[in-house]
Amino acid sequence: MKVVDHLSNAKSTLFSFEILPPLKGKSIQSIYDGIDPLMEFKPKYVNVTYHREEYIYKDKGNGLLEKVSIRKRPGTVGICAAIMNKYHIDAVPHLICGGFTKEETENALIDLQFLGVDNVLALRGDPVKTEASFTSKEGGSAYAIELVEQLMELNSGQYMMDDVALEPTNFCVGVAGYPEKHFESMNLATDMQHLKEKVDAGAEYIVTQMFFDNEKYFTFLKKCREIGINCPIIPGLKPITTLKHITFLPKFFNIDFPEALSKELLKCKTNADVKQVGIEWGIEQSKELRDNGAPCLHYYTMGKSEVVKKIANEVF
Ligand code: FAD
Repeated sequence: MKVVDHLSNAKSTLFSFEILPPLKGKSIQSIYDGIDPLMEFKPKYVNVTYHREEYIYKDKGNGLLEKVSIRKRPGTVGICAAIMNKYHIDAVPHLICGGFTKEETENALIDLQFLGVDNVLALRGDPVKTEASFTSKEGGSAYAIELVEQLMELNSGQYMMDDVALEPTNFCVGVAGYPEKHFESMNLATDMQHLKEKVDAGAEYIVTQMFFDNEKYFTFLKKCREIGINCPIIPGLKPITTLKHITFLPKFFNIDFPEALSKELLKCKTNADVKQVGIEWGIEQSKELRDNGAPCLHYYTMGKSEVVKKIANEVF
């Protein structure tokens, strides 16, 4: 079932979360271990993130270096199939532009449609660590909007290589939005225009980047409505759990901690202290968003399901 249908059928704020595929070599059980503790909150769907390959330079022993691609985590297609089969809920794979030609993307979408996956979150992806800025693979997409357009073409039965009419797909497409602006964008207004283009191209809902100040979300929501973005906008929430997060999250995700939160974080001496503050903040943030009619609260678990469970216990 489509995410937008889950949202419109819901009588109250839904609970959703995303899981990170484990490092290669682990079994599917590690995915189940992350999902099982959260099933009591009755998620209608689970997102599965995608992590592109990385490049390392191998010393060839002759004074030359060889650029080698390494993939650290399994892809999403098999994981989505396993989740749907075990839990009988929808799985929402994240599909990125980075590292794929449009043809490879089409092949992945054919597999997903074949498995009965109804939803996709269409993203550009970040630059790989060895790149200063994002570059697309030759024959690939440079922006998420191109993925949305490709999905809409498949939804109208236009496949890349075939000149015969084929069964159209019926994917519901979500995209990412940034209440505090995407880090590369000149300003929030420009970024929001690009967001609107994705929605006008066919995206049916938005999931936001994490934020810690609900006012940022409420302002973003209002501005989206003012410029004609009328689809559901799902807040993305990440509990802070480690001392490292205090500097890493603002830098990597281009977000601010509100002063009330930073004051509490400055008192923390250990990861356990930070986790406790993160849980308490997450509960307050979630309750306020729920009480103000957020359609769904989407948690970035990042392998910390037990922390999300503590928050969800108080909110759902
Ligand atoms: P886009 O919408 O393409 O935007 C990227 C930048 O380009 C923005 O600054 C935008 O303003 C600008 N822009 C857009 N269109 C144009 C245009 N036509 N001309 C000029 N500029 C333009 N990354 C992963 O690798 N895997 C994941 O699983 C993943 N999941 C995510 C889930 C969520 C909910 C969010 C919020 C992010 C996720 N990301 C993931 C990170 C995401 O890939 C990065 O934030 C990436 O840098 C931008 O992706 P996007 O889809 O927002 O890109």
